[in-house]
Amino acid sequence: MIRTGEQYRAGLRDGREIWIDGERVRDVTSHTAFRPIVDAKARMYDMAHEAASKPVMTFEKAGETCSTLLRPPTEQEHWHEKWRALDHYLNDIGGVVTRVGDETVGEMWSLFDGRGVLNQIDPRFGDNIERHISRVLEDDIFHVSANTDPKGDRSKRPQDQDPDMMVHVAKETDAGIILRGAKYETAASYADQAFLKPTIGAWSDEQLSNYAVGCIVRMGAPGVKHLCRSSFAGRGSAADYPLASRFDEVDTLVVFDNVLVPWEDVFFYRHTRAAAYIRGTLHRYSAFPYTLRILYSADMLIGAALWNARQTGLDKLQAVREKLADLVCYREGINAHLIAAIAQAQRSPGGLLMPHQSLLYAGRVHACANLPQMMHIARELCGGQICVTPNAASFTEDGPREWLEKFYTLNDNWAADDRRKLLAFARDLLNSDYAGHRLTFVQFAQAPHFNHLNAVYNAFDFSGPLDFVKRAAGLSDRVEEQQP
Ligand SMILES: Cc1cc2nc3c(=O)[nH]c(=O)nc-3n(C[C@H](O)[C@H](O)[C@H](O)COP(=O)(O)OP(=O)(O)OC[C@H]3O[C@@H](n4cnc5c(N)ncnc54)[C@H](O)[C@@H]3O)c2cc1C
Repeated sequence: MIRTGEQYRAGLRDGREIWIDGERVRDVTSHTAFRPIVDAKARMYDMAHEAASKPVMTFEKAGETCSTLLRPPTEQEHWHEKWRALDHYLNDIGGVVTRVGDETVGEMWSLFDGRGVLNQIDPRFGDNIERHISRVLEDDIFHVSANTDPKGDRSKRPQDQDPDMMVHVAKETDAGIILRGAKYETAASYADQAFLKPTIGAWSDEQLSNYAVGCIVRMGAPGVKHLCRSSFAGRGSAADYPLASRFDEVDTLVVFDNVLVPWEDVFFYRHTRAAAYIRGTLHRYSAFPYTLRILYSADMLIGAALWNARQTGLDKLQAVREKLADLVCYREGINAHLIAAIAQAQRSPGGLLMPHQSLLYAGRVHACANLPQMMHIARELCGGQICVTPNAASFTEDGPREWLEKFYTLNDNWAADDRRKLLAFARDLLNSDYAGHRLTFVQFAQAPHFNHLNAVYNAFDFSGPLDFVKRAAGLSDRVEEQQP
């Protein structure tokens, strides 16, 4: 059953405890800091009901309409459908948002693949994962990801410092487990629930650690406190900050102050092997929508840079074309990895269809690691005017207006207003506080760089290069005996 934007908003008015800039937020759906991004997510819900979008955004399952983006993939076409739905959505809202549900739901599909492993060790929770995957789909739930603890001093075990530095089970009751600790979570304050699982740390050699817990936590549950970073929305006018004012995805330190998680929402508990398993496979699906977002960011870089070069006539220069071609190679590199990951998709242990793992993970590294350089090329192509241009208000006020119109009008096609708009867009994409934040988001929000590389190492089949070199170099069979 698909929800409407209004039903989603109503679900957020559950008395949840949210703080921002020292203020207690009474209604997250109408607060200046959150309203634009809540509206962007609500738009996704509403589009699923509109005649023009419904065929792209939804599919039918046993007589019920469900979200294409939340569908567990079993065929290649499901991945193409997801891509089309996301394309439709991002074009509709006119920007890039990442944490709107489809990019996090895949973490549960990874755990579904591992339910055999979970059942071997503790069969109590085996059915919970399947039920939750169906629930997200059937109730159209906005689900986010809770991985990263504050962690404290990494050289110490969590038990040897304030134990809350990492989320742990403080107590068991008949009703469920009691959680304490905190996690950094993008979008938590305006989501329905999060899939919480451990950061692997200094406790992972223990057999039955209280830190080895995976579960669903409702974002409005008693004891859940959302301590949000300051938002970019509302800081400047929408005319001057066209991206920050509409698409800032507020991140939250979510504190769990003795939160009761019912047993039916627990996936694993005191289960170190399960914790290691989920960390190893976490992004096997969700790396796809994450990397796909960066394709759209690359399009924004190319679009901003080329419009600027056309405005100023610089696109005629070979040297400028070469820089644009560098941006295109980056963009097409992401595109190629994603297309190939679907074309070479692999059957998962649970019977789902995973994008080809080493192609997908290599694509994520390509997209994330090269983004800083690509942003710099686009910034350089846009020229210094992105950081020296006055704000929109000066373009309409008598006095500065005449001068600004004179200096920002380029020719008959490019009037000052369009020049100003493009420069404001490029500033918000490349130079603003929000632009810096987005760059950090891409580098970290789905694990840091070393973890991305570790995923490539673990997914790649090294036997091909090893065999090739063994034959080419004439190595003896004895070298095989040294395999780990
Ligand atoms: C904008 C933003 C949004 C985020 N959203 C979410 C979210 O929704 N959900 C969530 O769970 N988390 C989220 N995170 C947290 C993110 O996953 C963490 O920032 C990330 O896991 C790194 O943890 P840390 O920040 O504590 O850095 P640290 O653990 O302090 O690491 C800092 C750096 O030290 C180095 N380093 C640390 N450990 C190792 C190692 N073992 N091997 C090699 N190098 C190492 C790396 O260079 C690393 O980048 C978000 C982060 C940001 C910035």
